[in-house]
Amino acid sequence: MGDASPQAAPQPRQHVIFLGPPGAGKGTQAARLSAFLGIPCISTGEMLREAITRGTPLGQKAEPIMAQGGLVPDDLLLAMIDERIREKDCEGGYILDGFPRTLPQAQGLEKLVGNGISELVVFDMEVPRDELLRRLAGRQRHDDRGPAVLRRLAEYDERTVPLIDYFRTWARFHRVDGYRDVEAVQDELRSLVAQR
Ligand code: ADP
Repeated sequence: MGDASPQAAPQPRQHVIFLGPPGAGKGTQAARLSAFLGIPCISTGEMLREAITRGTPLGQKAEPIMAQGGLVPDDLLLAMIDERIREKDCEGGYILDGFPRTLPQAQGLEKLVGNGISELVVFDMEVPRDELLRRLAGRQRHDDRGPAVLRRLAEYDERTVPLIDYFRTWARFHRVDGYRDVEAVQDELRSLVAQR
């Protein structure tokens, strides 16, 4: 009879990164895509907010920076991500929402993951600035108000936008129009990750 037992084809590791300004809808899309692909979604913003709630040393450092809309130092973020992606549920890959946000974070991630990053897909979600401001004003988070919002947008322009050129050179990179309804955006993301 030989070996007739059907063997599941090994799934390639899938790494997905979401770039895009605050309010572009990364968190919503990343969570849905995570459920669809069956890989975890790692949101650094949420991890930091949880650290603040729990009052950990990381949370204590991050709190005043986040309240003002600044970026938490790269070394803290890299240590947090390093620990998280070593967990068992990340073996088949993962989605990163909100990381990397700076060039040193991107380079640090590349070092951590090494060749494992060959299956990388990067989505840059774009939404017009006036719509971003409208969306952020409608959320109830406390860094979505006042000068913190403008600071977050400025940090994005200054420190995260350069990552677009960085990833475009070597990853599967897709610019996605986030100024559409949630389902339309999600459908596009699903078809793009399926492309080889
Ligand atoms: P948004 O994408 O809407 O700005 P997040 O929840 O991703 O919101 O992030 C909230 C805040 O958490 C950021 O303004 C920043 O202070 C901090 N933060 C999250 N991810 C990072 C990161 N990769 N590097 C530095 N700071 C971060």
